[in-house]
Amino acid sequence: MRIFLFLITVFSFGLIAEEKSCAVSPAEGMKRLLEGNQRYVEGKMRHPDQSKERRIKTEAIQKPFAAILGCSDSRVPPEILFDQGIGDLFTVRVAGNVLGPVELDSIEYTAFYLGSCFILVLGHENCGAIKAVMAGQTKEIEAVASLITPALAQHPGATTEEAVKDNVLHVIQQLKKSPVLSKLMQKGSLDIRGGYYDFVSGKVELLPVVEEKR
Ligand SMILES: [Zn+2]
Repeated sequence: MRIFLFLITVFSFGLIAEEKSCAVSPAEGMKRLLEGNQRYVEGKMRHPDQSKERRIKTEAIQKPFAAILGCSDSRVPPEILFDQGIGDLFTVRVAGNVLGPVELDSIEYTAFYLGSCFILVLGHENCGAIKAVMAGQTKEIEAVASLITPALAQHPGATTEEAVKDNVLHVIQQLKKSPVLSKLMQKGSLDIRGGYYDFVSGKVELLPVVEEKR
């Protein structure tokens, strides 16, 4: 028994990386994001976790409570529009908030190893990548376009806003196919939702949960 306990201790504290517990529950993570966004909308930001003390505290360890897969667009910076600070959000930003192998690895990494138990896929108003694909103008952005095109195929005649939301929901479906993420979801250790950001109001609208297509 002692040897068994010793082995558990060794494996738990360093020789191999292990799954981390949630920084906060998925529901609490979503609540924190939405509350931060509400402060931003109202112009009542607190700018939390941006002090020197916070930098020192997070020097050796990070435990971001949420992960954001968002667009690279300069008008959609997650820490600002959710009023968060250093070590709060694990952000993956790429044009069109698409999901390729590198983005998936990044999300799996933070969900499994860092304890980010709420993931938000964030689309936004007037997204240039989505509009380019809709217009068929994909020169120089072929790789991004190839990931967006399947998301738009089922909805001919969609408005730009509808297409952005279709793309977000498509990415969520792809994320849920990950064995790592689906296992965490089954355990109740992870939730994945979609959001849509409006430039003028500053509001992030949470998109409805869509059941899996079978
Ligand atoms: Zn965009």
